[in-house]
Amino acid sequence: MSCIFCRIVAGEIPARRVYEDDDVLAFADLHPQAPVHILLIPKVHIESVAHAGPEHAAVLGQLLLAGAAVARQVGVADSGYRLVTNIGEDGGQSVFHLHVHVLAGRPMRWPPG
Ligand code: AMP
Repeated sequence: MSCIFCRIVAGEIPARRVYEDDDVLAFADLHPQAPVHILLIPKVHIESVAHAGPEHAAVLGQLLLAGAAVARQVGVADSGYRLVTNIGEDGGQSVFHLHVHVLAGRPMRWPPG
């Protein structure tokens, strides 16, 4: 298995897990870009949103709901946070297993750089 996030799901690579259910895993980003930086991934391998099909609709929804749950869990629900998923080269994607970043703990700029 070569996908680094599949290896985290399998427990082959350590990660600071902050949330887990049957379909979704959340863990701290290795190189945080904000005081709170957590990644949400589907346990099933999907390369990106662009590679998701109708059969993935439920897990895509679960990722967003898990993002809101994690934000409440780490105490940033009231101050606000950003959920973002990068897709492909221009989108800034570097790991090709779909993930949603939870960024919080500082004001986010718009538009992003
Ligand atoms: P992206 O650039 O949107 O594909 O985001 C990939 C993210 O994965 C980056 O923020 C990396 O810091 C993070 N990352 C890469 N490897 C690991 C790892 N082993 N554990 C936690 N986060 C990781």
